[in-house]
Amino acid sequence: KLHNTILELKGNIRVFCRVRPLLPGENSSEDKSISYPTSMEFLGRGVELVQNGQKHSFTFDKVFMPEASQDDVFVEISQLVQSALDGYKVCVFAYGQTGSGKTYTMMGKPGIPEEQGLIPRCLEQIFQTKQSHQSQGWRYEMQVSMLEIYNEMIRDLLPSNRSNGDVARIENGSAAKQYVIKHDPNGNTHVSDLTVVDVCSKREVSYLLKHASHSRLVGKTQMNEESSRSHFVFTMRISGISESTGQQIHGVLNLIDLAGSERLSKSGSTGDRLKETQSINKSLSSLCDVIFALAKKEEYVPYRNSKLTYLLQPCLGGDSKTLMFVNISPDSSSSGESLCSLRFAARVN
Ligand code: ADP
Ligand code: MG
Repeated sequence: KLHNTILELKGNIRVFCRVRPLLPGENSSEDKSISYPTSMEFLGRGVELVQNGQKHSFTFDKVFMPEASQDDVFVEISQLVQSALDGYKVCVFAYGQTGSGKTYTMMGKPGIPEEQGLIPRCLEQIFQTKQSHQSQGWRYEMQVSMLEIYNEMIRDLLPSNRSNGDVARIENGSAAKQYVIKHDPNGNTHVSDLTVVDVCSKREVSYLLKHASHSRLVGKTQMNEESSRSHFVFTMRISGISESTGQQIHGVLNLIDLAGSERLSKSGSTGDRLKETQSINKSLSSLCDVIFALAKKEEYVPYRNSKLTYLLQPCLGGDSKTLMFVNISPDSSSSGESLCSLRFAARVN
C-alpha cells in the first residue's frame, strides 16, 4: 500500500519526516524496520516501515535520514524564516513520540554549535538579517513570548516584569492569571497576562530560552523519566519599517515543540496521567483536523477545539505558512508508534 504517491498541491503546508539515528544501547537488530526507497521518484521523499511483517510506504515533502545534520535540516527551513521577515505568519511544529528527536530538532544540544537546533539557527538568521537590512534603511523591532500548554491550560514561561502593586494583588488571590486568548481584526493575537519581551539580540533570546526551559513542567512517565507532557510554543513577532518608503511589515514566527504523541496503553496511564494523555491526544488530533481542513481547503476549520489551535489560529491558514516535522525513532521496538506518527502525518500531507 502506497500512501500519497502523488503529492497534491496543498498551499502553504509542508510535511517533513526526520528519522533520528539509533542511540547508544538501542537495539540495532538485523530486521531493520525503516528503509528508504532509492528509486528516482521517491529519492529523499520516501520512507518505508515494516511492522508485524507488513510494509508501509509513505512520501513527504522531504525525508531526512539519520545522517542528516542540523544544518542540512535548517537549510530547508531558512526560507520560512525569511518569509517571517517579509511579513508572513509562520508555524513550524515538531510532532512525534517522546524520544523521537523533537527537542533535538527544535533546540538541539546546548553548548555544541554544530548541534544547535532550529530555534537558535532561526535567531541567528533573523538578527543577521536585521543588521544587514539596517544599511538599506529598514528598522526592525522583535518581541518574544514563550509559553506551554499543559492540560489545556496556558503557562507563561518568562519572568513577568509586573510592578509590585500587581504582585501584591496576585498574592491576595484577587488577580489570578487568566491567559485569555483574543484575536484582533488585524490578525494579531493577545494573551492576557502573558509576558512579552522586547529583544534585540540572539544573546537576549538565548537567556530567555534558558529561563523558559527551567520553568517547563516536566512529567515523568514509564516511557521516559523526562518525557514532556506539554506543548512548548516559542513566538517571535517581527515588525519592520522602511525609513525611505514608510512600508511596514508584521511577521510572526512560531516554533512549537509538541507534547509526545505516544498512545495511552504504552505509558500505563492512570489518574492525573490519564487526564494528561487525553488532553494531549485531544489537542494533537485537533491540530491534525485543522491542518487537514486547511490542506483540503475546506470552508470550516475547527480552530476552537483546542487551546493550541485557537492560540495559533491567525498563523494557520490564510496566506500563512506551516511546516510539520514528523520525528521518528528508528528502533524496531518503536515501530508501532512510528507507524501512528507516519499515518498522522500522511493524513496531514
Ligand atoms: P523528544 O524531544 O522527541 O522527546 P529528544 O529530542 O529529547 O526527543 O531526543 C531523544 C534523544 O535522542 C536525545 O538524547 C537526543 O539528543 C537524541 N537525538 C535525537 N535526534 C537526534 C539526531 N538527529 N542526532 C543525534 N541525536 C539525536
Ligand atoms: Mg522533548
